[in-house]
Amino acid sequence: MIINIDAKSWHGNTIRSRFEDKLMYEPNTGCWIWTGAITGNNKYGALKISQNEAIKTHRLSYIIYKGEIPDGLLVLHNCDNALCCNPNHLRLGTQLENIKERTMKQRTRNRYSVKQLGKAPGREGGQF
Ligand SMILES: [Zn+2]
Repeated sequence: MIINIDAKSWHGNTIRSRFEDKLMYEPNTGCWIWTGAITGNNKYGALKISQNEAIKTHRLSYIIYKGEIPDGLLVLHNCDNALCCNPNHLRLGTQLENIKERTMKQRTRNRYSVKQLGKAPGREGGQF
């Protein structure tokens, strides 16, 4: 996808300025948190770049500050915050790396949630 970040979009602002307007700096982590829209089917930020096209904001950030994303590569977060757009927290990676990372994190999360939640009360032996 080729994006001209400094071209005025259909409502008069550049993509770059609409992107930077919605970032919030988080001093503890150094994350740049996206405060605008979130994509419908996952947890990433999204910015409309034309009437009917949106881009994930961490990918847009990578393009603005670091450069083009080679075909087939993903932009991964070092800081584990999907809404973070700090280019220093972003790196290129493969789908395989992404899955490996997610699996490792889920394993940790599951161990945690089993301990925390236990069994739901009143649901043992019942029929649903
Ligand atoms: Zn971050």
